[in-house]
Amino acid sequence: MWRIGLDAGFSCPHREGGRGAGGCAFCAPDAGLAAYQHDGRRLVEDLDEQIARGLGFLRNRYGARLFFLYFQAYSCTNLPVAQLAQVYDNAVALFGARAPGTLRGMVVSTRPDCLDRAKAELLSSYTARGMEVWLELGLQSSNDSSLARINRGHGAQAFVDAARVSRGLGLKRACHLILGLPGESKADMLRSAEFAAAQGMEGLKFHDLRLVKGSALARNLPAGEYAPLHPSRLPGLLAEILERLPWEVEILRLSADFPKGHCLDIFPPIEKNQLYTAVERMLAARNSRQGGGIAQRAAR
Ligand code: SF4
Repeated sequence: MWRIGLDAGFSCPHREGGRGAGGCAFCAPDAGLAAYQHDGRRLVEDLDEQIARGLGFLRNRYGARLFFLYFQAYSCTNLPVAQLAQVYDNAVALFGARAPGTLRGMVVSTRPDCLDRAKAELLSSYTARGMEVWLELGLQSSNDSSLARINRGHGAQAFVDAARVSRGLGLKRACHLILGLPGESKADMLRSAEFAAAQGMEGLKFHDLRLVKGSALARNLPAGEYAPLHPSRLPGLLAEILERLPWEVEILRLSADFPKGHCLDIFPPIEKNQLYTAVERMLAARNSRQGGGIAQRAAR
């Protein structure tokens, strides 16, 4: 099954003024959307066209037959509940007209402080229609100092609250974490992964920090206050993280993925499949696996 990444017209409360203050330091101008939704550097706006492009790309490239709608760009719960339902329903209907019988679920990505129980219950209502529903919550780090440094606009407690209000509703929840945030040590990153898993997440997504052109981080790089994580550190770091996670937590991503030319890359990024292989090799060399770390073995 494949996700069709969409910009369904949401905004982000953290970029709108008020709480705003300009958004997260790493955030892309288009808030991060799949390459196939870009026409050159222009983002395709029409939702039906986005669905058509996503279907076309995923069918041609991967032979995809079954799909999830992925509400990906900005904060995709950033509307009152009644309007949220209209946006999701509209996308489901547009998809149904283009590819009847092939929708298996939806993925909704958002900030943890943009969720309440009513919104979580709305998402849960789609499971009653036979869909698998994933809620993706951006945490990035469990360290409040790191979150302040990247102007995240919320602390770790907001994530704890979001995990609580979305619990017990039949949703699958995934947490986004960034590796290599300014000022973070390996211990910070390990702690963040354990923290997210301890909140009962069904899935985790790891992104290595990339300097997206137009982001505050990329603009501020010349000030010299940030040294990027070298890609060669990723396999070892990810292997150590995986060892500490419960085996049943689904790992949805191990590295960031941006369209070519969208980032300022100080070091050439490691290719995704090479990274996966390197992590597997690293775990094998350590005679280890996800959930097989020292802490887990000692606890048994
Ligand atoms: S990363 Fe997400 S929460 Fe942060 S500014 Fe961008 S869209 Fe908003």
